[in-house]
Parts: sequence; structure tokens; C-alpha cells
Amino acid sequence: MDGAPTDPALTRQLLRRSVGALAAERTCCAGCGRTPLVGETIHRYEDGRDLCALCRPREREAPARSEAVRGAAWGTAVRRRADRPDRRPRPVRRAA
Ligand SMILES: [Zn+2]
Repeated sequence: MDGAPTDPALTRQLLRRSVGALAAERTCCAGCGRTPLVGETIHRYEDGRDLCALCRPREREAPARSEAVRGAAWGTAVRRRADRPDRRPRPVRRAA
């Protein structure tokens, strides 16, 4: 046994729950219903609509803001914040 659930009903339930959670978080275009790709520009309007780059030219109103679509892992990456002075390499001292 590898620890994976063996009950098919439980497997289906877990799969439906995880797919539902993913669908709830994604951004959909109000014009075409498409889910924009990561890195694509999405235009957000005051009334709550989001339009993709393909549907934006058909809208006369200017968007409240435009931003790049980010992947699910955005903000979770480990980043180097700054060099710590005590962690810098020390100069090599040669023996006299
Ligand atoms: Zn669209």
C-alpha cells in the first residue's frame, strides 16, 4: 500500500473538491469566458468585470487597472532579500 486512497468514491470526491477549489480562484474574461494565460495582461474594471487582451479593444471604457496574470505559485517563492554583512565572504589572509 502506498498511502493513496483506494476507495473510488473517496477518490472522486477528493478530485471534485480540488478541481472546484482551482476553478473558484481563477480569473475568467467577462467577454469570452476564456481563462487568461499566466503572463497575459488582464484589464480590470470598476464594475468588477475582467477582460482579456483580446476582448479589451471592443470595450470603450478605460479599465481601472491592467495587470499581468500570475501563476498559482506567485508569492510563495523563496527570495533572497538582502545581503547580511556578517554573511559576506571574508578576505583571505595569507600566512606570513
Ligand atoms: Zn476575452
